[in-house]
Amino acid sequence: MAKMTRNTGLLMIPGPTPLADEVYDALGSEMFSFADPRFAQVFREALAMTQDMLGNPEEVYIIPGSGLFAMEIALTNCVQPGEKILIINQGYFGDRFSQIANAYGIEYEEVKAEWGTRVDPQEVAQALAKGGFKAVTLTHVDTSVGVLADFATLIPLIKESGSLLIVDGVCATAAVEESFTKGYGANKANIDVLLTAGQKAIGCPPGLAIVAFSPDALAARAAMPKIPAYFGDINNWRIVMKEPGRAFGTPPVSMINAYHAALKLVYQEGLEVRYQRHERYGKAMRAALRALGLTVLAGEEVTAPTISCVLYPEGIVDAEFRKALAAKGMMIAGAMSRMSGKAFRIGHMGSTTPQMLEQAIALLGETLNEMGFSADGATAVAVLQAKLFC
Ligand SMILES: *Cc1c(COP(=O)(O)O)cnc(C)c1O
Repeated sequence: MAKMTRNTGLLMIPGPTPLADEVYDALGSEMFSFADPRFAQVFREALAMTQDMLGNPEEVYIIPGSGLFAMEIALTNCVQPGEKILIINQGYFGDRFSQIANAYGIEYEEVKAEWGTRVDPQEVAQALAKGGFKAVTLTHVDTSVGVLADFATLIPLIKESGSLLIVDGVCATAAVEESFTKGYGANKANIDVLLTAGQKAIGCPPGLAIVAFSPDALAARAAMPKIPAYFGDINNWRIVMKEPGRAFGTPPVSMINAYHAALKLVYQEGLEVRYQRHERYGKAMRAALRALGLTVLAGEEVTAPTISCVLYPEGIVDAEFRKALAAKGMMIAGAMSRMSGKAFRIGHMGSTTPQMLEQAIALLGETLNEMGFSADGATAVAVLQAKLFC
């Protein structure tokens, strides 16, 4: 595993995630002109690794911005104002698609799940049967609730309807497989647009929006003479992806270096090994959290390997709990929107190490006890270790 000597605290939020030393080093490397052949090479290698990781989409774009911008790029390059999409909404990041649609005058319908559960595939089929959806959005891991989408069931359904499939992979890419060519379900259906960002399971700092397109998605863009975007119009970036020396907006040279280093670590570990590691992390963390007497919001059958949303026991006050942990150097995230105050979220992805997970469980146990909730931290750490190193 990568060296991790520069993380003095425990950064357990769902992004940004802890960085490996190789990534810190890459961030601090010499500044190049974007026209420097050395930059072009790093950029090309980063693109090629991204392309391989995603199972060879037709085109990949790496653009400065956060995951939210990647969502906006995905939507505005496939769907015009006045056209309609279906949002498969399994948490707050589903709501985010509707907010972007509202901003651009894109019509939408939603199939919603109770928070912590998955949508009913039958409801999705019924909604799709109405027809008229240019695209369907699906959040791979909804980070607000820690629910993993059921690709094997939903992707074939969606693609059968003839709509484009847009997947938000921000909290999944590099931890859970996402492929443009593998094919899901009996009819081997594939993703059309995959959007992601660097700062979660990839283990890069925040700052990159990464969006991949299938030939069908690119045909949709080509069929639209104009879209309500300029910086986010992939037509303005296409040449830059082919010839990195030809800047459109100045490329974030340092961040591309960091992203390149993070992907190199992904490949040193190996994609399959990495996917299995995240499975193991997820299982171990949930078992340990339960051993502390806590309840994980999402059921074991629907849960994500990268993040857990954990309900507070009676009497624990969110702000006080997180403040006490922060004083010990550990950052967790509050819950979002309607779950705010009722739960906390803890990330376990990317370059996060087993030692960090052990420390996190120990500190959670200690802090729960300080706040009057009796938890057996030592047992929970033992449960974690048993599942981590099995
Ligand atoms: C974090 C996240 C986003 C937003 O990414 P930002 O970089 O915070 O803008 C979008 N979708 C999902 C699923 C996420 O986890």
